[in-house]
Amino acid sequence: MNNTLDLHHHRLFSPGQGYWPEATPEQWNDWQWQMRHSVKSLDHLTGKLQLTGEEHAGVLLANTKLAMGITPYFFNLIDPFDPDCPIRRQVIPRIEEMTYAPSDMADPCGEDHDMPVPGLVHRYPDRVLFLVTDRCASYCRYCTRSRVVSGVGEQELELDFDRAINYLQKHTEVRDVLLSGGDALLLSDRRLEDLLHRLRAIDHIEFLRIGSRVPIFLPQRITPALCAMLRQFHPLWMSVHVNHPRELTTEVRDALGRLADAGIPLGNQSVLLRGVNDDPAVMKVLVQKLLRCRVRPYYLYQCDLIQGSSHLRTPVSKGLEIIEHLRGHTTGYAIPQYVIDGPGGGGKIPVNPDYVVARLPDRIVLRNYKGDIYEYPDVTPAGQEAPTPAYRRLEFIDPIEEREEITSRSWRAGRRD
Ligand code: SF4
Repeated sequence: MNNTLDLHHHRLFSPGQGYWPEATPEQWNDWQWQMRHSVKSLDHLTGKLQLTGEEHAGVLLANTKLAMGITPYFFNLIDPFDPDCPIRRQVIPRIEEMTYAPSDMADPCGEDHDMPVPGLVHRYPDRVLFLVTDRCASYCRYCTRSRVVSGVGEQELELDFDRAINYLQKHTEVRDVLLSGGDALLLSDRRLEDLLHRLRAIDHIEFLRIGSRVPIFLPQRITPALCAMLRQFHPLWMSVHVNHPRELTTEVRDALGRLADAGIPLGNQSVLLRGVNDDPAVMKVLVQKLLRCRVRPYYLYQCDLIQGSSHLRTPVSKGLEIIEHLRGHTTGYAIPQYVIDGPGGGGKIPVNPDYVVARLPDRIVLRNYKGDIYEYPDVTPAGQEAPTPAYRRLEFIDPIEEREEITSRSWRAGRRD
């Protein structure tokens, strides 16, 4: 992959007005202007980007599946001379999107089955996902909800806020509501405020969350007025979506800073994508930059089996390798949980490198991030016999010499510290 780390990955820089020098600073900083000037067609790309054959064909077909739409601000992050640019791969359609692998699905997370009311996904006992719009500031080519977002796919996203609120009023077990879509931050301040007021008026709802890529695609939307409005609804948390260090510009840092200053705890969800961030060195820069922007890396998702995304998917071993390269090698706060969404509706399942070498009745054998072996003598509760081990790696127990070798290595390693 062409992802050599240059200074751009480390620096926070501004892409500037780039291809839109004629815009006044007021226009450029106006999020509605950005949306009106979104790059949506082959015509809009003319003179800006020399498309590859795969991209040209992809752009022509995109509006039959998942629309192309890229804010001018985000478009300027694309390297026009690099067909493998990690920003480009996320937002410029390619003809491979029309190839469906046998395991691909239209609704890989099985959301439609768990929708008691249009737009409301109630899968887990105490929380719901509330889809409030089908529009996004730009469209990610691997979007797990591409069947309903952008308005050109097979399905239309039905919305009925009254029925959704009514359902939530009756379901007292729901304590957590996640607003998503599409992107909830594309609603006007007034509409979003009205919706948040209605949710806050429900006593048993303790916690509100917004999942949004707007701070990344359209940092101009994060106005002081929006932040002042949102802060009325605490506890309100936000998950943003950054995949590559180059997305963290000075504009994005400032937008995230305004949200953080409004008391909104920020987490990040990245999707592991081939040719974008499937490199431990790139991910390490990303997670460290996120901390500098006051965002806690939260999840690293294995790419869902969304139709036409196989060219962007990586082996699971790549995700494990990335976590292995982060754990112990950088700040604990910087390490996201790697998850696979169980295909068809299994929810998020954590996947971790294995640090447990063996479990014995009286001890657990562990390896640390450097591969050194340690034994921790386990506690057997009073009055109970030592438990049967959940699993054991027999090669460490038999022959006995090997076990002794491990014990003495762990002792030596332990003494070093
Ligand atoms: S911002 Fe989220 S919902 Fe919108 S296209 Fe990207 S992944 Fe899909």
